[in-house]
Amino acid sequence: MIDRPVALVTGSSRGIGRGIALGLAAAGHAVVVNYFRSPDAAEQVVGTIQADGGQAIAMPGNVGDADDRRSLIESTCEAFGRLDVLVNNAGITSQGRKDLLEATEESWDLVFATNLKGPFFLAQQAANRMIASIDAGDIAGGLIVNISSISAYAATTNRADYCMAKAAMQMMTQLLAVRLAEQRIRVYEVCPGVIASDMTAPVKEKYDRLIAEGLSPIRRWGTPEDVARAVVALTTDAFPFTTGDRINVDGGFHIRRL
Ligand code: NAP
Repeated sequence: MIDRPVALVTGSSRGIGRGIALGLAAAGHAVVVNYFRSPDAAEQVVGTIQADGGQAIAMPGNVGDADDRRSLIESTCEAFGRLDVLVNNAGITSQGRKDLLEATEESWDLVFATNLKGPFFLAQQAANRMIASIDAGDIAGGLIVNISSISAYAATTNRADYCMAKAAMQMMTQLLAVRLAEQRIRVYEVCPGVIASDMTAPVKEKYDRLIAEGLSPIRRWGTPEDVARAVVALTTDAFPFTTGDRINVDGGFHIRRL
């Protein structure tokens, strides 16, 4: 077992997950850089971490697939002997961004498998591993962070499946937080606003305009590093008497205004 905490970050080959992987590595974690379709990008993240003196490995796996989920958790524990932090970051947007009157079951199934079922069952398996390690005295506690979205409560009618899956993530976080509190595993939802990444690149002009018009009180795009800083803060001992919270990283978007 290695002597530094180990973090598994799903979907960390690109975008927000990449930022979280880099942030956790800089904070002293050994990081499992999970990817699905972008092995080269994942290896680049690993290379960057190692060049900075950190520890990381790339690991393939579709979070929407049960066998891949099992192998992700098992391979992490085989590689490092422990799992301290799970960040459920991997996610996809609604396929084709179709109006809800045209939305397809194919998109629903893919979005829910990737954005909700995958994170829930990964959290279940990670929690069981963490509990065994905590009971054995190998690690002091565990942390699970779910990356949701402002789409959890801001209705976008051409991404209905995405919005509903993200909304469910709040209850998932609260359920896990209640069940795992006695086991010394804290669980949080980090809720990003509009963040610059490949996911938002196709709608960049729309958001450029909305941000300039004051979409969020802080008038700029968020960055993967903004989200990473929040996740890293949760790994510290700054919040010992908290669990189940939603941490907004959205420039104040969530505040209703008149
Ligand atoms: P992105 O740029 O499209 O990157 C998505 C990442 O997830 C990639 O690393 C991709 O890996 C991975 N991924 C996709 N499907 C996967 C699967 N089935 N199994 C494992 N990994 C998979 O997206 P992003 O903007 O960084 O978004 C990351 C998370 O933040 C998502 O959950 C998203 O819903 C949430 N979010 C984003 C924003 C935003 O404005 N960007 C706002 C709120 C919330 P490969 O390339 O290797 O396939």
